[in-house]
Amino acid sequence: EQTIGDFFDAMVARQPEALALVSRHEGVRLSYGELQQQANRLASALLRAGLQPGERIGIWSHNNLAWVLMQIATAKAGLVLVNINPAYRTSEVEYALNKVGCKALVTMPRFKTSEYLAMLRELGSARLPDLKNIWWIDAPGAADEAGPDIATARFSQLLASGDAADPRVAQVQATLKATDPINIQFTSGTTGFPKGATLTHRNILNNGYFIGECMKLGPEDRLCIPVPMYHCFGMVLGNLACLTHGSAIVYPNDGFDPLLTLEAVQAERCTGLHGVPTMFIAELDHPRFGEFDLSSLRTGIMAGTACPIEVMKRVVDRMHLGEITIAYGMTETSPVSCQSSTDTPLERRVSTVGTVQPHLEVKIVDPESGATVPRGQPGELCTRGYSVMHGYWGDEAKTREAIDTEGWMHTGDLATMDDEGYVNIVGRIKDMVIRGGENIYPREIEEFLYRHPQVQDVQVVGLPDRKYGEELCAWIIPKPGQQPTEADIRAFCQGQIAHYKVPKYIRFVDAFPMTVTGKIQKFRIRDQMAEELG
Ligand code: ATP
Ligand code: MG
Repeated sequence: EQTIGDFFDAMVARQPEALALVSRHEGVRLSYGELQQQANRLASALLRAGLQPGERIGIWSHNNLAWVLMQIATAKAGLVLVNINPAYRTSEVEYALNKVGCKALVTMPRFKTSEYLAMLRELGSARLPDLKNIWWIDAPGAADEAGPDIATARFSQLLASGDAADPRVAQVQATLKATDPINIQFTSGTTGFPKGATLTHRNILNNGYFIGECMKLGPEDRLCIPVPMYHCFGMVLGNLACLTHGSAIVYPNDGFDPLLTLEAVQAERCTGLHGVPTMFIAELDHPRFGEFDLSSLRTGIMAGTACPIEVMKRVVDRMHLGEITIAYGMTETSPVSCQSSTDTPLERRVSTVGTVQPHLEVKIVDPESGATVPRGQPGELCTRGYSVMHGYWGDEAKTREAIDTEGWMHTGDLATMDDEGYVNIVGRIKDMVIRGGENIYPREIEEFLYRHPQVQDVQVVGLPDRKYGEELCAWIIPKPGQQPTEADIRAFCQGQIAHYKVPKYIRFVDAFPMTVTGKIQKFRIRDQMAEELG
């Protein structure tokens, strides 16, 4: 029941000299003590700039020192940090900032500065009525630029205006409660428009702690984090898992780059590595993969979307990640509800999302009746406990739709649980197809078609159909140089899967519509097919 600031201060007191942060692209290395000094200075500066506890401040940036400082300083000053996706463009950032009423914004470093300031200039105070201050993260040699008609200054100037020993920071910190909102995170937008989940100290601090426990993190660990901070994966599974265990955070770069990630692991002798499946694939398939010494690696987390067994097996065998786990969760639950521990048997660890995390409840229900389904049968996964968000910011109705009166968060995900409590994610309810009364799980057909030698990647969706209610449609990305035909694919299915599971529509494409977090947006595939079929 502590706040993030108090927990962090206690950790610093225990090990002020220990390494806390390495930001390779910025040439930054800080101990826990140094990180605390700078975070206190920033908290003081934010309060001196007139921000009041409870007010919202956005961060629109890739991974860097400023991000970590903001995470700790806002938690100490009682401000609500709003994570804004660095890939957002003008109208998206306008929506996000206005939706939650951000009073201030910290934004982009280095060469990207101009681009971000240009977008803010375009919006100006007319379209951002709540925004009073913009601080841009500068780099050596960066020129001062004309900002929008909103007070604009360098982040370094902001930092310099604070005092690391300002008694006001400790005063404010002492008034905060674990149940205070501290963070608004937007969901990925895989199924539609991103929603802003309001999270408290208790939500994310505890979740970060238990994630670190599953990974058995300690002061000797150095975790390489190429996943973005604006998403809960980076911020909670990365930063908070480290900071609650006295481990070091290592940023290989500001955006994802497989080569820089491998270099960082080798150079910093990292013991852990995080990633979504596509990141691990990019690292494994990199032409220079074999040149790197990854023998320091031990653990890490693959998460965010379905984690194919093949990919898990490859990272275990080839990346020295014998203790890697899969985590399952969603932004609204801080995020993780299920995760293996490093000592879960390997076979379970690569093929399931593990068991329910400590102090959380999970049940699997019939989405229609709400009754718990028998073990092994698919149903909607619901989560209850400390991790469930405060609510969607400013959206009572949506919150009530998601969290029922007994406190269960309805995830919208279909899952099964076996006799030993291991959970498997089957897919999203919205993606399930009902054809002529038969429930079809697209993931099953995707996993099957994935085995076709000419198929690199495949997505299966349901399309409305007058006769059967829905019909299946497969989008296939062929392997480079391959040109499979519809007939090939159908022949491959013949006799192997039930006739009603063979997709009626088969299309070959170069790419899938994706969110910036690397998730495939099936609703866009359905939209495009609806257009094509009229
Ligand atoms: P939106 O809610 O805006 O449509 P989103 O649900 O993708 O987007 P996130 O909160 O980032 O936004 O992602 C949570 C979802 O990701 C889960 O509900 C689940 O569908 C999927 N997911 C997360 N981890 C896993 C996993 N290990 N295996 C399968 N699916 C996963
Ligand atoms: Mg979601």
